[in-house]
Amino acid sequence: MIRRNFAGTGLEVSQLGLGTVKLGRDKGVKYPSGFKIPSDQEALALINLARDLGINLIDTAPAYGNSEERLGQLLKGQRHEWLICSKVGEEFDSETGESSFNFTPEHVRYSVERSLQRLNTDYIDMLLVHSDGNDEEIIRRYGILQQLQELKAEGKIRVTGMSTKTVAGGLLALSQSDCAMVTYNLAHREEEPVLDYAAAEGKGILLKKALASGHLCLDQERDPVAASFEFIFAHPGVSSAIVGTINPEHLKANVKALEQVSGR
Ligand code: NAP
Repeated sequence: MIRRNFAGTGLEVSQLGLGTVKLGRDKGVKYPSGFKIPSDQEALALINLARDLGINLIDTAPAYGNSEERLGQLLKGQRHEWLICSKVGEEFDSETGESSFNFTPEHVRYSVERSLQRLNTDYIDMLLVHSDGNDEEIIRRYGILQQLQELKAEGKIRVTGMSTKTVAGGLLALSQSDCAMVTYNLAHREEEPVLDYAAAEGKGILLKKALASGHLCLDQERDPVAASFEFIFAHPGVSSAIVGTINPEHLKANVKALEQVSGR
């Protein structure tokens, strides 16, 4: 799989990443159908398969239930083969299924230290602010992207950024950090100006929901994954698309679709 220099950071990131919401959380999610959280054995087989297919980016967050803790165990012995992306700001209560948000400097430091511990590592490759939708307010009110720069200078994280939900927020985040994670797919093109800016300024873009959380896969008319990848990778701003799957057959099919689209 093609790897790209990520926003001039020196990190080489695979075109597809593996999303891990479904490794840790089955409440408060918007997938087309229910699912069973994979066992450790199943999750490890999935991670090994992804690695063998050339994927080196894995995406997690404190808000994904126990995803971070599980990765801390599952990646033992192969930590350095992965770029780990985690986040800060959203907390999830597995009992109630409710999210809450905290972007204060105290919480940011606490959360990053906790992620390091849970992930069983002494650095996190990419650390993003997990927005609640009020992107600009979070950046301006808390100076949170400056704080991530400080954590970067301390060596705790290697790349800073924000998972945003608005165009204005995505643009502001990119002006103060290395990358943004945005939603971009066949059914949601509104945030394209953020991708345009990233391409022009040499910033990184990670895509979330490239398959609209699986809703695009319900399309029987054409190959929805190939059509999706053709669309998203046509944009020069896209560094990597993080696809969430717990099905090894889907993972293989996705990599194959990417190869077809890339003409390899
Ligand atoms: P997605 O990647 O667009 O779609 C994932 C869904 O598509 C899963 O239900 C998966 O089901 C299904 N799928 C994948 N490949 C398929 C295939 N070949 N055929 C049929 N179905 C397929 O959406 P997402 O999981 O919401 O987002 C991806 C990742 O982005 C997440 O895991 C997370 O890491 C990140 N994310 C971040 C944020 C944020 O705010 N920062 C928000 C949402 C997501 P199977 O498991 O059955 O394959």
